Amino acid sequence: MNIRLYFYGGVEGQIGGNLILLLTNNDGLIYDFGVNFKLRKMFFEYPYVTPRSLNDLIVTGNVPDLPIYTISHNVPVSYAFISHAHVDHCGYVPLLNKSIKVYMGYMAYTIVKSKNEIRLRKTFENDFQNVNVEVFHSGREIDTSLGTIIPVHVDHSIPGSYGFISILGKRTLAYTGDFRLHGTKGYLTKDFIELATREGVTDLIIEATNTVLSHITSEKEVMEKLFQVFSESKGLIILDYSESDVDRFKSIYKAAVKAGRKVVLSPRQAYLLYMMIKQEQEFSWTKLDLPSLDDKNIMVYNSCRSRNKALKFLLKVLDQDRFVTKVELIKEPEVYVFSANFYNIEDIKSIDPPPGSVYILSSSEPFDEERELRFEKLINWLDVLGIPMYHIHASGHASPLEIRMVVEEINPEKVYIVHSENPMLMAKYLGNIAKCIAPIRGREYIL
Ligand SMILES: [Zn+2]
Ligand SMILES: [Zn+2]
Repeated sequence: MNIRLYFYGGVEGQIGGNLILLLTNNDGLIYDFGVNFKLRKMFFEYPYVTPRSLNDLIVTGNVPDLPIYTISHNVPVSYAFISHAHVDHCGYVPLLNKSIKVYMGYMAYTIVKSKNEIRLRKTFENDFQNVNVEVFHSGREIDTSLGTIIPVHVDHSIPGSYGFISILGKRTLAYTGDFRLHGTKGYLTKDFIELATREGVTDLIIEATNTVLSHITSEKEVMEKLFQVFSESKGLIILDYSESDVDRFKSIYKAAVKAGRKVVLSPRQAYLLYMMIKQEQEFSWTKLDLPSLDDKNIMVYNSCRSRNKALKFLLKVLDQDRFVTKVELIKEPEVYVFSANFYNIEDIKSIDPPPGSVYILSSSEPFDEERELRFEKLINWLDVLGIPMYHIHASGHASPLEIRMVVEEINPEKVYIVHSENPMLMAKYLGNIAKCIAPIRGREYIL
């Protein structure tokens, strides 16, 4: 069987926007179909200049000109395997032709579905409502016309993250998705490495986000640093973190309780948390151990916005004493950790945090995997408001040493570097272990 491999995103220096295509003479599959925020920002700016059609995305190079879309005929691909629910890996999935079966992990699908439920502005490119999804759990062997695909859990900054081991005749291809070993659930990634090693992977597609200024920081250290700032600050703490990063949420929660503060979540974050807990109660292979929304140390911010779908839902299912308004935040700022970001600048302004208040950026900047941070504008506003910023974060991605260790253990013939600003650097760094390739967009590689 002649298997061709193509990369259409997450290559040539791009972090995220992954799109990997496998083709045989009869059928094909893709791994991930995400948004590259940097590329998107070059052409589009919400709310005035947004993509109006698929063609807008194709002519700007945001998505490739391939026959895989809703309007396409003779679609050469039957399956899409989505590694996790970060937008840079799944954001463009709704564009796919309905004949393509989309495979996602249970928790990944819960996250994507929950976000879709509370989305105010649904468009041709972001509405997951009619996506043909089949959910999987780690280790399930999925038979396709190309071979057997086995999703295996990995640890990353969002629950429900997977790599894929694809047994394709004489070749075995592994794709890591996004992963790390230094996180709280590094053992998940070890399961992936173990199976990949056992299956005799010949070709490995690996992410290499961390190449420059890599930090070695654990989630425990993040918790300790958060606690220090929470306990020593006299004003309001404004905390900016990625909404689906449950490890970070748990660190924030623990540090806040220890410092005698309450965490105030946005309705959107609380809604996501509510749905993740519900999913876990019904079915989950990895315990998230999330505190419940009935916990007295967790509050929901009542922005009093009637169009907010998440708030509407939460007001129905939670007790009234679970909500705080800006009046309470103004009255006792030293009691709260207010979860907010640049997009809540209106709320932050109206609370008018007192002197001594602090902003903590607890995600990567200037792009995280869920959104584009308006970093410069945020800095300008904080300057006007007189609020200093701390950066307290541990990466969701493997460090260079971890990447090398994974490649050494799996010991493939060929390694393809993706999701990296410096793929050539990483190819050289790993050069004495395997044949390393920094893929070119659209070029054909034979397995
Ligand atoms: Zn990513
Ligand atoms: Zn990710």
